[in-house]
Amino acid sequence: MKDRGILIVLSGPSGSGKSTAMAELLHRRDNYYFSISATTRDPRPGEQDGVNYWFVTRERFEQMIRRDELLEHAEYVGNCYGTPAGPIDEALDQGKDVLLDIEVQGAMQIRSRRTDAVLIFMVPPSYEELSRRLNSRGDTPPDKIKARLETALRELHLAPEYDYIVVSETVDGVADEIEAIIDAEKCRAQRRAKFVKEDFFNALPPHV
Ligand code: 5GP
Repeated sequence: MKDRGILIVLSGPSGSGKSTAMAELLHRRDNYYFSISATTRDPRPGEQDGVNYWFVTRERFEQMIRRDELLEHAEYVGNCYGTPAGPIDEALDQGKDVLLDIEVQGAMQIRSRRTDAVLIFMVPPSYEELSRRLNSRGDTPPDKIKARLETALRELHLAPEYDYIVVSETVDGVADEIEAIIDAEKCRAQRRAKFVKEDFFNALPPHV
C-alpha cells in the first residue's frame, strides 16, 4: 500500500523551537520533504540561500505572488514569507511527507486551500522560557525581540484553531510527539479508504 504523502504545517512563536524540531525530524527519517520558503528578510549568520530559505528581493516576492507561484504568503514582523507551490505536490505524489514551518496567517490559508493538511502548533514550555530563548539567540536586536514576543502572544491565541498542540520541553520529546501525530494521521480511514476499495473490492475475483 503506497500512501500519498501528508502535508504537515508546523507553526509556533519564533523561539518555540520549530526549526530545531524540524531539523530533528529531518534527521530521523528520509521520507520528509522540507519546503524551503521564500523570504524578503536578510539571512542570519550561517543561513544559506536554497537551504534555509530562498532569500529574494521584495520585487521578486511580489512577482511570485502575481504569477501565483506561492501556495500561501504572509507578512511577519516587517518581512514577507511564502511557500513555493510547485515542489510540494510533486513531493506529496512521490509519497513524501511535506513539512512546512510557517506562521499563523499562512497556516490559516493552507487550512482553507488544502483541507487534508495537518496543522500542528508548537508552544514553548512557558513565557519565561520563550523570552529566554529569544534573548539567548544573540542574532536579533532588542527591538526585534520585543516585537517577536508581542507577536508570539498574538499567535498563541490561534493555537486552538490547529489540529494538534505540542509542547517543546525537549527536542526529542517534541519530535516524538510530532512523529506520533504523523503516524496516526497516515492511518486515518479517510486517507486509507481508497486503498481498501482498490486493493480488495476492485480486485475481487469474479466468483466472490
Ligand atoms: P524567521 O524569520 O524567524 O526564520 O521566521 C519568522 C516566521 O516566519 C516563523 O514563524 C516562520 O515559521 C515563518 N515562516 C517561514 N517561512 C514561511 C512561509 O513560507 N510562509 C509563512 N506564512 N510563514 C513563514
